[in-house]
Amino acid sequence: MSRTNLKALSDEALVDLMAELGEPAFRARQLVHWMYERAAVSVEEITEFSKELRKKLSRRAYIGAIELSGRVSSEDGTEKFLYTLKDGLSVECVLIPDNDRMTLCVSSQVGCAMGCRFCKTGSMGFLRNLEAYEMVDQLLAVSGLMAPRQITNIVFMGMGEPLKNLEELSEALRKITGLIGMSPRRITVSTCGIAPEIHRLSQKAPGVNLAVSLNASSDRVRDSIMPVNRRYPLEELMQACRSFPLQKGRRITFEYVLLEGVNDSIADAHKLVGLLSGLSAKVNLIPFNPYEGAEFDPPSEETVLAFQDYLVEAGIKTFIRKSKGGDAMAACGQLWCREPARDKD
Ligand code: SAH
Ligand code: SF4
Repeated sequence: MSRTNLKALSDEALVDLMAELGEPAFRARQLVHWMYERAAVSVEEITEFSKELRKKLSRRAYIGAIELSGRVSSEDGTEKFLYTLKDGLSVECVLIPDNDRMTLCVSSQVGCAMGCRFCKTGSMGFLRNLEAYEMVDQLLAVSGLMAPRQITNIVFMGMGEPLKNLEELSEALRKITGLIGMSPRRITVSTCGIAPEIHRLSQKAPGVNLAVSLNASSDRVRDSIMPVNRRYPLEELMQACRSFPLQKGRRITFEYVLLEGVNDSIADAHKLVGLLSGLSAKVNLIPFNPYEGAEFDPPSEETVLAFQDYLVEAGIKTFIRKSKGGDAMAACGQLWCREPARDKD
């Protein structure tokens, strides 16, 4: 019989497995504690279990873990990690230190099906969803490498569209908040705008922050760069954002990748102000990060600053986010993560 990955089992299935081994239910809870709070990567490490139980359990099951297969540091302090999954596919996650913060940018899928025209992950197409434990493992694995320094924030802005994998994402968030003990206020989920899932996210993972990759302020432009907009046009998306429950002082982050001559005019900024009116919002402007074969260019610095000024004048908190880790990492792929927004929390 092939052995089972304990991290891929639900809490109930773990209790059942323990029962099959003649063990009481609390052993399942101990196991969960060892896997997530103590980051055990083998049954042998669980010294709270008798030798006999460890042996019995090892015959039936193992603790799965993603495997580090690459690590690159950049001059700005950013580190990128490549992890190989059980089926040989890989995902990347990126650690972004920033004074007292250490933000980990986590992937939710291998590739992405959404096909945004400015995104390299999009051009890979979709390979598969990550299982919940494969998302949690990115945090556990990088935490292990960084100890005693602690990861303080998580952003789901790596590969993939998290709201297209909402069930597994919610389970991962449940483990990260409930077992590992990170506050949902320190977690941000970024979406290209799957409007109906925004509401479900707020129900399934109360208190996590929302980031929306807006990237255009009219349906005409958004349709042309983000196919998802034809399914969920701006009006529906902004309605979903308006209904997203926010605690006092919190804001929705709107990401806006600036593409030269496409979405970077003052008229675009003007429409953006209109879209965001009445919302507790902040905007991250991201000059397009070019890659080989890309069909866009970043705008000039003047254009970026003029766009920012227009929004700021209109009373919108607006930051310019440079893609981090461009130097050392350029060779091994694109890096989509940006400096974490410094919001109070
Ligand atoms: N799928 C989710 C999260 C991953 S993409 C989403 O779309 O929100 C993370 C961010 O990277 C998005 O805001 C996206 O607009 C941005 N991005 C993608 N390609 C980029 C590029 N070439 N340059 C700059 N930002 C990019
Ligand atoms: Fe997918 Fe996000 Fe890239 Fe769009 S921007 S293709 S949703 S990863």
